[in-house]
Amino acid sequence: MAENTSVLITGASTGIGSIYADRFARRGYDLVLVARDAGRLTTLAQKLEAQYGVQAEVLPADLTDPSLVEAVAQRVREDSRISVLVNNAGMSLSGTFISQTGADINRLVTLNMTAAMSLAHAAATRFAAAGNGSIINLASVVGLAPELGMTAYGATKAFILYLSQGLNLELSARGVYVQAVVPAATRTEIWARSGVDIDTLSGVMDAGEMVDAALAGYDRREPVTIPPLHNEVLWTLHEQARQAMLPEFTQEHPAPRYLRNDG
Ligand code: NAP
Repeated sequence: MAENTSVLITGASTGIGSIYADRFARRGYDLVLVARDAGRLTTLAQKLEAQYGVQAEVLPADLTDPSLVEAVAQRVREDSRISVLVNNAGMSLSGTFISQTGADINRLVTLNMTAAMSLAHAAATRFAAAGNGSIINLASVVGLAPELGMTAYGATKAFILYLSQGLNLELSARGVYVQAVVPAATRTEIWARSGVDIDTLSGVMDAGEMVDAALAGYDRREPVTIPPLHNEVLWTLHEQARQAMLPEFTQEHPAPRYLRNDG
């Protein structure tokens, strides 16, 4: 059970991360809450402490700042009570790839990829040595769908899915469980923060429903949980098609379609 263990959640000040904080507190976990907005984190921490009788610590950090990422990673490495990492902090960008600035794309990559990988590395190393622990990484269906026109954001989320699947394969034999959570549009501030009016979208999921579904997948130890995907067979077929290519990749010669035929 959750006794004497805690969960570190990034991006816990609002949205999906704040719901994870509520749900893990309800399960009896103590919390370490990370985001930039110390005021919002403190309000949430006090509420959850009062409601569930757990301890909730606030660890304010801008995860685009390498020294602050390192401080959080150090906490993950050194605090053996932390048995779950929820790698949730993330941002999106408005506009097309060429309308976005290089600086904005760098910030996106730093938060969505570099910080998430650093924290996953810190957690994976200690959890593997201990023989237990879980890492939950927030990916997105956008990472499976270049057609959605969110290229830079989707690329960061494809990275998170790959990272999660790779880590799960590497670490499950060491007692470490890694889950990729793959939401579609979910009602949070991320849309307004990137200049999109959420009320112009259809099929938007409530954040509480999304996290509860993700935690159902977590309890089943699913490597990949896609809350909005009703037809689960489609994901199975996708994975089977990908895996069917693997033996085909070992070839001394290129495929015949690439052999020159200059006449
Ligand atoms: P959100 O409502 O915008 O919340 C993002 C969280 O990340 C906030 O707590 C924010 O807190 C924190 N954050 C943002 N920039 C940060 C930084 N530089 N350093 C530290 N923390 C930072 O977003 P959300 O929808 O809950 O998204 C959570 C995760 O789910 C993201 O990884 C997102 O890509 C993914 N996701 C969301 C959707 C969706 O439709 N909502 C769909 C698929 C995947 P502060 O501002 O206080 O720092």
